[in-house]
Amino acid sequence: MDLSRFPRRRYTQGPTPLEFLPRFTEALRASCPAGSGPNVWIKRDDMLGLTPGGNKTRKLEFLVADALAQGADTLITCGAPQSNHCRATLCAAIKEGMKCRFVIEERVPKSYKPEASGNNFLFRLLGVEAITVVPAGSNMLEAMQQVAADLAKEGRKGYIVPGGGSNALGGLGYVACAQELQQQFFEQGVQIDRVVVGSGSSGTHGGLLAGFMGNHINIPIVGIGVSRDPVDQNPLVHKEAQAVVDLLGLDITIPRAAVVSYGDWWRPKYSVPNAAMVEAVQVLARTEAILLDPVYTGKIMAGLMGLARKGFFRADENVLFIHTGGAPSLHAYEAEVLGLTELTA
Ligand SMILES: *Cc1c(COP(=O)(O)O)cnc(C)c1O
Repeated sequence: MDLSRFPRRRYTQGPTPLEFLPRFTEALRASCPAGSGPNVWIKRDDMLGLTPGGNKTRKLEFLVADALAQGADTLITCGAPQSNHCRATLCAAIKEGMKCRFVIEERVPKSYKPEASGNNFLFRLLGVEAITVVPAGSNMLEAMQQVAADLAKEGRKGYIVPGGGSNALGGLGYVACAQELQQQFFEQGVQIDRVVVGSGSSGTHGGLLAGFMGNHINIPIVGIGVSRDPVDQNPLVHKEAQAVVDLLGLDITIPRAAVVSYGDWWRPKYSVPNAAMVEAVQVLARTEAILLDPVYTGKIMAGLMGLARKGFFRADENVLFIHTGGAPSLHAYEAEVLGLTELTA
């Protein structure tokens, strides 16, 4: 797939590592039915650029290039109180000498605390220009358009980055990741049988699926929902993947059956900790010294582990976990992640 006609800013030098996880694989296998348990590999997208990395960096490379092409001086975006996406967008703005404003949705009432740790702390340290807090279910696009209108009154020009950076343009970031992976599989001589990726605003899952289809990479992708069950999540991913191939002008129809996700691990609610997440964060930290996060990757890895224990993967199947980042929010959930508070399974 030819991405060269889309302007792109670069925030990472070279590919992120693709690595085998020997000690984690061994620990997981010990808890799987006898004779089963996959080999687990990791794509370190937590090591992308824009302090300290994560999947939003890839999307922002295309979105911010578009903002600059349009002459914008301020990035406007939205997210939850501990949003990695808001933090990454703010970092991109700083790199480009732009300003940045957020609209924060309190998906859990009273959950936005300006003095909180984790990403909230980073918002302040990195110097966000303004934050508008709105209640759950608000029309986020309208709220961001209001911010843009306020800027226009001062003679400034805002660029609205959609929630999670997930539109067709942002999804190109994960087409680029698919191409990077294809090259790494070839150069490292790695045969991956299945990919496990988080599925939220869907730019990552949808973009990767579009990239796999467009590059004839015949590896099934399993999404783990971070906020929705498959009945609600799969149509979003399908729409995103189709929008990405359409933007590229490719004559591809994404089959509904290519969109697979599992929804059990996000409960009780988006961003609210559960015991399986805590186990996943602790096991990966203590076997490989790799940090997951409580809101996304902890639950996504809990999904991989849960599927493995149910015998979902063939014995010795090579499964690739896409590490989409998020570690700063660990610090907003320290007691939970250390197992000091009681949580639901
Ligand atoms: C945003 C995010 C996701 C989900 O990715 P989407 O593209 O929104 O589906 C997964 N992991 C982390 C750490 C994130 O910040």
